[in-house]
Amino acid sequence: MTLLDGKVTSQTIKDNIAGELQKYLSEGRRKPHLVAILVGNDGASQTYVASKQKNSQAIGFDSTVYNYDETITEEFLLDKINQINNDEAIDGLIVQLPLPKHISESKVTQAIKPEKDVDGFHDVNMGKLAKGDEDGFIPATPYGIVKILEAYDIQTSGKHCVVVGRSNIVGRPMSILMSANSKYGNCTVTLCHSRTANIEDFTKKADILIVALGKPEFITGDMIKPGAVVIDVGISRVEDPSKKSGFALKGDVHFESASEVSSAITPVPGGVGLMTIAGLLLNTFKSYKQYYLKQN
Ligand code: NAP
Repeated sequence: MTLLDGKVTSQTIKDNIAGELQKYLSEGRRKPHLVAILVGNDGASQTYVASKQKNSQAIGFDSTVYNYDETITEEFLLDKINQINNDEAIDGLIVQLPLPKHISESKVTQAIKPEKDVDGFHDVNMGKLAKGDEDGFIPATPYGIVKILEAYDIQTSGKHCVVVGRSNIVGRPMSILMSANSKYGNCTVTLCHSRTANIEDFTKKADILIVALGKPEFITGDMIKPGAVVIDVGISRVEDPSKKSGFALKGDVHFESASEVSSAITPVPGGVGLMTIAGLLLNTFKSYKQYYLKQN
């Protein structure tokens, strides 16, 4: 069994970006700049944003985080987004989800200029993804997953890929990517969700199983085809008094039983989460090259 190591793979991607960036900086160009907006004080969201900022800065990007109180109005947030959209010194903007209930996530994601939408949630980028137009931004998690398959040279063409979960940020774009006519696509894809009857009938037929449903350890070894490649996207905080923090991070796959049957598997933590950050950094660098470098 091969452990698909997100730590090593994301580090290689970050080193490559940092190396290429040095060349542009030595030519007198400015640094890429990623801005994150965080509303409220949800612990998990704070951790994700801090990690995105730390990783951005580590490879030589500028990174700004605006952390607003959860009582801000939707109008205030949309104004701020508009201001950032018009700032030519900013390449990427992400708004950490979820947002407080009184703010429309749909309005907010659609307010971000598609050229700066490095999370890839804007309809324009979703449309480009569906059409296979490489100008757009692929949502960071599916992008990171494609990159880890690529790094381990996992063959996808002609394989049966089963994706569990159809969210707009993970499952649905993932299913589109795996079915695309591209080197790390060309799978026959089955997309499962909460209304799928007898889900194990599908998971057991997967050569590549990608799981993103948000239910800790839902997929067990007996639901997996021997030799399958398993990608675990889930991250849930589960109470664990033995940990200093009081919780442990669990994936959607029961790692112990799944690793006995699979040929390759991502761990949690240390798998897809780190690749998501790599995907975000790749998108920000792409925006910098596609829009700033080409015009300056
Ligand atoms: P989400 O928006 O809640 O979507 C969950 C999906 O799973 C839905 O499509 C839902 O079906 C489906 N589902 C729920 N229960 C199911 C069941 N019993 N059987 C089959 N399908 C079921 O979640 P998400 O945003 O995609 O996130 C999924 C997980 O990935 C979470 O643990 C999240 O924390 C994690 N995540 C990790 C990263 C990372 O960087 N590693 C990034 C994003 C998300 P319906 O559509 O029918 O409701």
